[in-house]
Amino acid sequence: MSKNKEVTPEDKTSKIISSGGVKRHLFNPSGLELWTVVGSEGEYIQFPDRGVCSCPQSFFKRIRGEAEMCYHALAVKMARSNNEYVTVECSDDEIHILLGLLLV
Ligand SMILES: [Zn+2]
Repeated sequence: MSKNKEVTPEDKTSKIISSGGVKRHLFNPSGLELWTVVGSEGEYIQFPDRGVCSCPQSFFKRIRGEAEMCYHALAVKMARSNNEYVTVECSDDEIHILLGLLLV
């Protein structure tokens, strides 16, 4: 009998991390830091201190008052604790490009 293997949030999380999908954008000269995660549907801005992500899934979880994090936020949390993220140095002029991700 064959059994379909269910894709768990943990599977998605480790796949993102191993493909370098957790990014820390370091802006110069301001020193501002922004985190993003590249998921299967796109790239989302992260607010790691609050476990919040800009994806629709996270948005609806927050509205419903669910404490559970989406797999993007989980990926950031795990990548930060294991130092498995990619640091991208950017100029302050480029910050609007990243903030544009919030408007998708
Ligand atoms: Zn998310």
